[in-house]
Amino acid sequence: MRKIRRAMHFDFHTSPGISDLFANFNAENFADKLKQNHVEYINFTARCNMGYSYYNTKIGKKYKGLTRDILKEVLDACHKRNIGVTAYINGGLDHEMMAEHADWCRMNAHGVIYDDDRKNNFFRTCCYNSGYGEHLIGEIKEIAAYDIDGLFVDCMVDRVCYCSNCVKDMRRKGVDDSSEDAVLEYQHSVKMNMAKKIKEVATEVSGRDLMFYFNGVPWREDLHTHAEIECLTGSKVWGYDYFYAVAPYARTRFENLLLMSGRFQIGWGDFGGIKSLCSMQEDLYSAIMNGFELSFGDHLHPVDGLENEVIERIGKVFAEKMLYEPFTEGSKNIAEIGVLAEVDSFQADPYLQGVCKMLCDLHLLYNIYNENANLSGVKLLILPKKFILTEKLRRLLSEYKNQGGKFLFFGDAINTGADFGVLDFIQIKGKDDSDNAYFTFGDSGMRWAMYYPALIIKNISGKEISRYVGKRFNMLFDGRQELFYRPQGEITEFSAAVLGENSGCVCFDVSKAYLDCFLPETRFLVKNLIDGLLPIKFVECKDLPIYAQIAVAKKKEDLIVHVKADYPEIKMGRGIIEAHTYLKSTEISVEGEYGVRMLPYLEPVEGRIENGRTVFKTGDFSGYKSFLLTKPVSDPL
Ligand SMILES: [Zn+2]
Repeated sequence: MRKIRRAMHFDFHTSPGISDLFANFNAENFADKLKQNHVEYINFTARCNMGYSYYNTKIGKKYKGLTRDILKEVLDACHKRNIGVTAYINGGLDHEMMAEHADWCRMNAHGVIYDDDRKNNFFRTCCYNSGYGEHLIGEIKEIAAYDIDGLFVDCMVDRVCYCSNCVKDMRRKGVDDSSEDAVLEYQHSVKMNMAKKIKEVATEVSGRDLMFYFNGVPWREDLHTHAEIECLTGSKVWGYDYFYAVAPYARTRFENLLLMSGRFQIGWGDFGGIKSLCSMQEDLYSAIMNGFELSFGDHLHPVDGLENEVIERIGKVFAEKMLYEPFTEGSKNIAEIGVLAEVDSFQADPYLQGVCKMLCDLHLLYNIYNENANLSGVKLLILPKKFILTEKLRRLLSEYKNQGGKFLFFGDAINTGADFGVLDFIQIKGKDDSDNAYFTFGDSGMRWAMYYPALIIKNISGKEISRYVGKRFNMLFDGRQELFYRPQGEITEFSAAVLGENSGCVCFDVSKAYLDCFLPETRFLVKNLIDGLLPIKFVECKDLPIYAQIAVAKKKEDLIVHVKADYPEIKMGRGIIEAHTYLKSTEISVEGEYGVRMLPYLEPVEGRIENGRTVFKTGDFSGYKSFLLTKPVSDPL
């Protein structure tokens, strides 16, 4: 399978009425520009959201007035220059076809096929149980007959459908169509059958191993040939707070990893908005420090094609990426902490997002694993929420425990830890129904807010790190007054955090509390427990400011230490980067004895060996800096 290192995703959707479509577009010039700017792979349109085809289709609807076969032109021109091309088709939206075949649309529970907001791309979606299913497969056959390297099938969303075909099939299969959950589950299986069929048909027609990405199909379904994480930094949902909670999971499942950012200042459809070069460089740093390759989303102008400003800016970022590739390519991120989770949706789980943010802020090296994972190398496993102890999970945890693994349980996960038998040093007294409770920490007399109380626990034989402080009131209306102001109550006999020899626990939902409130003491409390279980870390950087990030990757015997100073400035709730962040030199200590060189030009860095660790200073820098650590200490490259 081809490794995608520098890619562009062209989200080419055209409103009707452009009479001079592609008039100034020349595929040879387009491919030249891609090549000059170091693009090795593209997703290019075959058929768009709007339902228009840009290739010679017999069954679809070619854009009005377009006589050229743009897909072929682009494939030929790109392949001549060794640029790979995945064909894009929208598998969930085809507005032209839907406008002509109302019976191909999904129908909601009220029998309506259009949503109220008809300016939203998803105002109507396609039902695979209608004639659309066959039509889509027909389009896939046509497209796969081209010399494509892959297929990107977009918008395969789960939505209910109560059209007559779906209702008939649900009744035949005994699906309870009065339950929305059951209908969604049924629709998911319909979608999965469609995705599998697309993969089968495309492979058969092309006769080659193609790259496949089905946007909206969970990774657990094992249909994708690589992970492609769409993370538009201008977005609040899939923006800066998304990647770090998903990337450490993707890299435990896929060999080929792609961060798909966008060049947009706002989001898809932002024709005239490009984010700053600094922002695009920050995408690069985030990608390479997480073991990812990089793709930029773009729109082509429908008449003029690629805009110089866009491709030149991307070219600068890719040129910079190429300097690091000899070192980063094939490297694997080191993770000594594991977070147990089931991430398969676009929207990361708040428990997972909270614990990841905390680990990032604590400068710890982590990966996210599900119950199918291999936990070798993990020294501490965090369960941020309750998991049902299936046979499979019990087996995984037992193997991990037998190899000396340690555990940390937050909130309701304490029940999982107790069921598994590694929390004998505490007693669970029951669920905590308070809507506010507090905890002690360190020498301060302050009673800190838990924000999300979960369980009442009592220390029996462990080391108590924090005591549970009760409440005075829950928030309620007492018949005359609202009890909005809820001060702390008394210190109780119960514990908020306890440490055993190989496990620790916190009685409240620290992950969610951290994500929603960012009280530093929440993080200090967790750090205290982690330090108790894992006193020596693979990498230590105690003076690195909280906003900076660190990662360490291994490539054969070498290590690559990445440090990123950049972080977004919040402007009206959105993260914006327009300048690199300056970072004063800070000391880093890494397990093992190495010689240190600065990347990408390999200037030697003065370091010292102390107790089997390599200690060096980053030097002052802006944005991002990385270091190559090689053995033995004095060996020249
Ligand atoms: Zn249907």
